[in-house]
Amino acid sequence: MVVTDAKVANPTSNDAGGGICLALSAAQAAARQEFQRFADEHIVPFAGEWERQRRVPDSFISLLKERGYLGANLPKEVGGGGMEPITYGLLTEQLGRGCSSVRSLLTVHDMATVAIARWGSPAVKQEILPRLASAEAVAAFGLSEPNVGSDAAAVETTAVRQPDGSYLLNGHKKWITYGEIADYVLLLARCEDQPTAFVVPATAEGFSRVPLNNFMGTAASRVTQLLFKNCRIPADHLLGRIGVGVSHVFSMALDHGRYSVAWGSVGIAQGCLDACLSYAEARIQGEGKRLMEHQLIRRLLTEMTVSTRAARLLCLRAGYLRQIEDPGALPETLIAKYAASRAATNAANAAIQLHGANGLSDDYPVARFLRDSKVMEIIEGSSQIQQTTIAGLPLLDY
Ligand SMILES: Cc1cc2nc3c(=O)[nH]c(=O)nc-3n(C[C@H](O)[C@H](O)[C@H](O)COP(=O)(O)OP(=O)(O)OC[C@H]3O[C@@H](n4cnc5c(N)ncnc54)[C@H](O)[C@@H]3O)c2cc1C
Repeated sequence: MVVTDAKVANPTSNDAGGGICLALSAAQAAARQEFQRFADEHIVPFAGEWERQRRVPDSFISLLKERGYLGANLPKEVGGGGMEPITYGLLTEQLGRGCSSVRSLLTVHDMATVAIARWGSPAVKQEILPRLASAEAVAAFGLSEPNVGSDAAAVETTAVRQPDGSYLLNGHKKWITYGEIADYVLLLARCEDQPTAFVVPATAEGFSRVPLNNFMGTAASRVTQLLFKNCRIPADHLLGRIGVGVSHVFSMALDHGRYSVAWGSVGIAQGCLDACLSYAEARIQGEGKRLMEHQLIRRLLTEMTVSTRAARLLCLRAGYLRQIEDPGALPETLIAKYAASRAATNAANAAIQLHGANGLSDDYPVARFLRDSKVMEIIEGSSQIQQTTIAGLPLLDY
């Protein structure tokens, strides 16, 4: 089931302002149950093995497509699932609870596709967008380079306009999630010395990939380096116009990415809490007591419960603001991502502590949760970048 009650005010919302009730609608609650069952059946039992293999298998990616989960947030008119933001967030949380490498496919595909849907030329919207929205093809997000991370405007990859109107690309993108299987890449390049966005088909001549297998966290997400050597793309593959690559195209994609990562981080925190509750019930230590009976263990669980719930509420709020297309959605999404990614790391760290030596082994999921949670504090704007940004933003006063 895909819930498509886009723009239906959360029945719970108070449009008169002054506060938002964040309970789920019946359709959203039913969708969440469905996503939870999907994650429990198809992801949770396999996530550890996928991490060891450093690969979410193609067969599972096909299943995600069949279920309509990839591109679910894209409007129906362009071939997407038309899922409204809160339901989409609930889906993302459940995928993140199961496996962050799965959630990251949804994140990068959807962040590239929303930007292409908004900024693509008529030809791109006709030929490429429907394939992406329906997930027949997969998109990757190509910003980072060996010398370019948090400061996107410093992009070094070049795009030079040719006499026939086409563009010639030269450069090196690093850390590209699912770059190994992407059919299209949303690419940031320097054109006429200004950051500019393009969509690049993986079939373009001069495009090649080198998988990266030497990092910790979301290790199964097929992270790849992309090389562009005199790679020629047609004029109409420029997105927006020259110079608006960061200010418009990539900032829109990153806003979506932060929303997705925020919910995925809530999923990690919830996964830690679930693992800890069951371990604390089963493990007997100290005068024959269950861990759960020790006060300091209860304190760890309390902290984890409260911060997970707080992060989820921030995500729901950001989702509601997105649903009503309130401009406050952007800063509130930043806050949600900042809080949720920190909550995930704190929860994972505490979860290992609570599990003792078992927490450091592959027999339990919590060490993987810690590896994955660190990624959440680095991607789509690191915690440091958010610490310097949120302070100056105009925020809603409730
Ligand atoms: C698993 C994984 C998947 C990824 N997938 C993708 C992808 O699909 N596409 C893509 O384009 N990129 C991807 N990235 C790259 C990611 O976006 C970058 O790692 C991120 O933007 C940070 O850049 P950096 O790692 O170069 O760190 P840097 O920008 O070099 O920062 C290093 C440190 O300095 C801090 N710092 C930087 N600037 C400032 C500042 N102004 N003030 C204070 N502190 C600062 C940072 O917070 C960080 O702690 C991925 C990364 C990982 C780990």
